[in-house]
Amino acid sequence: MEFISQPIPATKRVALVAHDNRKGALIEWCSRHRELLQRHRLVGTGTTGSKIEAATGLQVEKLLSGPMGGDQQLGARICQGEVDLLIFFWDPFEPMPHDPDVKALLRIAAVWNIPVACNGASADMMVQSVLMEREFEREVPDYQGYLAGR
Ligand code: PGA
Repeated sequence: MEFISQPIPATKRVALVAHDNRKGALIEWCSRHRELLQRHRLVGTGTTGSKIEAATGLQVEKLLSGPMGGDQQLGARICQGEVDLLIFFWDPFEPMPHDPDVKALLRIAAVWNIPVACNGASADMMVQSVLMEREFEREVPDYQGYLAGR
């Protein structure tokens, strides 16, 4: 597979997901970065999104709850080029009934080369990057070219 360059826009579409034991940490993180986050577009799995909205007043587009398919909805958006960053505070201590969906979401984020943060330190570094508020290029698989050459 060849790769092509694709822009990640200055105004980012940020996906927010947290497992139950990590929701408090993500809400605290969103509160700390509230001013910055309100300049971008937020989308989240159902419960995570609702709790962030209630706690911070940030506006979050809410998909289905993760175990009901919300992680897969986010994965589909990544494939369609509709999500630029993934902040996913998954729980490293508890197995989840929807672990296959969690793995699929992380895999598809790797395929489409979007920045991913799975804990507060990574998320802090990500949003404090100079690239957070400017457009930059990322390499993605050239699937159309691949199909044309078959
Ligand atoms: P939730 O889903 O935000 O609806 O709790 C998150 C997840 O468990 O993937």
